[in-house]
Formats: sequence, C-alpha cells, structure tokens
Amino acid sequence: MNLSYKERIARRLTAVTALIILLVFGIIYGVVYLTVIHAIDRDLKLETDKHRNQIFLVDGEIRFAHKDEWEEQEHTQLQINPIFIEIVDLEGNSMDRSPNLQNNHLSFYPDRAVSGEAWTLKAGSRELRQMQIPLINQGAKEGYLLVAKSFEDPRNTLSNLRSTLLLLYPLILISLFLTMRYHADQSIQPIRRIIQKANQITQSNLNERIPPTELNDEIGQLTDSINGLLSRLEQALLREKQFTSDASHELRTPLAVLRGTLEVLIRKMRTPAEYEGKIQESLKSIDRMTAIINQLLALARTENGISQIKEEVELITFCEEIADELTQQKDRKVRFESEVSAPIFVPCNEKSLRMIVQNLLENAIKYSSTGTDVILKIANQDAGAVIQVIDQGVGISPENLSKIFDPFYRQKSAVESMIPGSGLGLAIVKKLVEEGGLKITVESALGKGSTFSVIFPLRS
Ligand code: ADP
Repeated sequence: MNLSYKERIARRLTAVTALIILLVFGIIYGVVYLTVIHAIDRDLKLETDKHRNQIFLVDGEIRFAHKDEWEEQEHTQLQINPIFIEIVDLEGNSMDRSPNLQNNHLSFYPDRAVSGEAWTLKAGSRELRQMQIPLINQGAKEGYLLVAKSFEDPRNTLSNLRSTLLLLYPLILISLFLTMRYHADQSIQPIRRIIQKANQITQSNLNERIPPTELNDEIGQLTDSINGLLSRLEQALLREKQFTSDASHELRTPLAVLRGTLEVLIRKMRTPAEYEGKIQESLKSIDRMTAIINQLLALARTENGISQIKEEVELITFCEEIADELTQQKDRKVRFESEVSAPIFVPCNEKSLRMIVQNLLENAIKYSSTGTDVILKIANQDAGAVIQVIDQGVGISPENLSKIFDPFYRQKSAVESMIPGSGLGLAIVKKLVEEGGLKITVESALGKGSTFSVIFPLRS
C-alpha cells in the first residue's frame, strides 16, 4: 500500500499509543477491581473476626457470648449493602442465619472451609462475595460461620467503568489519529514547498534557490544541502559551458587557418614550391587540431574514471625510463636524479602517472631554453615520496599560479612567444592527480624556472 508520509506517521503513532492506552486502561481497571474486592474482603474479615469470639457451638447448640448484643446488631434488616451471616454444622446443615437472609440460605462449600479467604460466587441471580471460618470449641471444630456480602454494586461499578473505558478507547484513538495526521501534515508542509520549488528548477533557472528557513532544524539543513548542491551543479554547468566554448574556439582557430590557406591556394595556379609551402602550413594546422582533439579525448577519458585501477609502481625504474624516452624524443637532455637508492614502490595507475610526468616534462622542455637543465628528480619527503620536474625556464608569475591548471588557460608570454600548446596539458595533469589520490604543488619564479612536485601520500 502506497501510503503518504503523514498517513504513515499518524498510523504508527496511533498504533503505539493504542497499545499504551490499552495498557493504562487495563491497569486502571485492574486497580479499581482489586480495590473494590479488597474493601469487601476487609468488611467480611472484620465481620468474621467480630463473630469468631461471640458464637460457640456446644454439643450442636449455638451459644452467644452476648446474645443481646447479637440480637441488637445488624443483619436484622435489609440494609443497602447488607452482610449476610449463617451458621452451619460440620455437614453444612443450617443452624441459624441472619434475618436479612429472609427465606434464603448461604451455601456451604466444604473445600473452601479452611482457607479463610473470600471468593465470588453466584447465588441464584445474585453475585456474592463469601467467606467461611470454622467455629472451634475447646480445640474441636463444631461448625462453620458463613459470612457473605452482595457483589452487585461493585459489579455494577466495575461494568460501568469497563463500558466507559471501552467507549473512550476508540474515541481517544480516532481523535488522536486525526490530530496526529493534522500535525504530521503541518510538519511536512515545508518539505512540500521544497519539493515544489525543486521541481521548478531546471537547467534554465539553475541560479534560483529554495528560500531558506529561519530555523536551523532538519528542514533548514535540508534546504541548505539542496541549495549547496544546486550551487555546485551551477558551477559545474558553467565550467562545462566555458570548456565547450573554449574547446570550440581552440579548434576554430586552426580550422580557420586551414580554410584560409586552402582558399588562397585554389584562387589561381601556383608553382609546385608554393603548393608545397601551403600544404605544409595546412598540415601544421591539422597537427594542431589533432593534438587538441587527442588532449580533449585524454581529458574525457580521465573523467570516465578509466585511470582508477591501481598497481604497484617502482618509481626509480619508472622515472629513469621516462627520462630516457623524452631525451630521445625531444632532443633535449632530461637529467634523472634520485635522493633515494632503495626502490620506492607506490600504489598508482602507471598509465596515468606516465601521462602526468610526460606532460610536466614536455612543459619544462617547452618553456625553457635549449642550454638549460631539465631535471626529473625523486625525493623522499615527510609528506611521502615525491617526483619533481625542475626547469630553469621562463617561470610562472605568482598571480597565474592558480590559473595554470584551468582548461585552456595559457600564460600571455606563452601565447606571444608562439610556443605551441592548447592549455589542456595541466588540466589533464590535475584531473589525473586528483583521481589517483595524489597531490601536486608548484613553485616558480619568473625568469628563473619552475618546480612541479607530485606527492604520493604515505601508506597508512
Ligand atoms: P600548454 O602548455 O599547452 O599551454 P598547459 O596546460 O600544459 O598548456 O600549461 C598551461 C600554461 O601554464 C602554459 O601555457 C604556460 O603558460 C604555463 N606553464 C606550464 N608549465 C610551465 C613551465 N614549466 N614553465 C613555465 N610556464 C609553464
């Protein structure tokens, strides 16, 4: 059954309260019942105690200690709540009885004769509470004194109480259920408002927020959480838009160059040398676009979490290999240095780490002049093992240090010096570093050079 939240709350609370009320009513009824019984039994006990020492059976005859008193006493008329008394012999035959019994007799129950405890019984249409005690003469049992009191009035009181409780029970539960449903409905009103507002927010009005509540209760926290989520989504969407527009801009430039070159080429017949020159230019534009597309693909791949699988990589061998490869490819010496001689194993994805180090080394080569050193260094610091890429190149100005990891960001000097690049390399590095649970820092001084450090966390 698909019940609403308020319905569920109201039902659950009502069910629990129903049990509690049932228990309380049961206790009330039980206490009243016991109190009533106790009061009657106390009367019966007083009565038996009073007569115990007044009545004797001697040789089958009743003797009264104070006959006049006995005759004067109660039991003569029918009072409102009379006490009935009857004296029986050992066989239960009636010997005397109080006048208020008129033509009736109390019944003798031999099995209850000794216990001296009262019990409830039916006498015809009436209910009685009766007590029996033996009458002893010189140590010998001579007969029994039966004392009884009507149980009609207490029974009426008890059944009235029971009817009242039974009537109250459903009434209380129904009103409780309705009240709880109303209050549950009231307390989820703010949630309804949140749902309504959240449903209205789409990509086109992602800047709108759920109105915050004044109280810092759960609803307030929920509102803050949803608003926080919306802000993060909005930021992500803005970054995405910025990225797409930057990417198209980056691709449009070489495409425009390519188109321009080709248009110039077909305008009239050219010499083979001119054709060759223009085709070379076109190929350069195509290379630039290919490089950008490859980097975009690399970035997309890191976003798909492909580089998540980790393995044990030995840093010294790994860095030595990369330094050699780059030295051969780039025609620049990449010097490998290590502060540690023992092998250092780190858990990471080798492909990702290769891409990180290659990107940093390529930048170090690109942004430094031919005669300077490019160093790939391994160190073991307090924070963990570190791979450093050090150059003595153009450096990065302090205000640009925070921007160089943004997609498509390039320092002005890099653009002006016509150093090829798309501004995607460090964005890829940052993504891979974050995915691998690593850290990257950069220290740089304009005109002096830069040091990029990739830090591997200590094993826990
Ligand atoms: P790209 O090199 O293709 O421009 P990157 O994302 O790799 O893109 O780098 C972004 C910018 O950061 C570069 O344009 C450059 O200005 C700066 N940069 C990166 N590495 C270095 C470095 N080693 N020395 C000086 N500047 C650097």
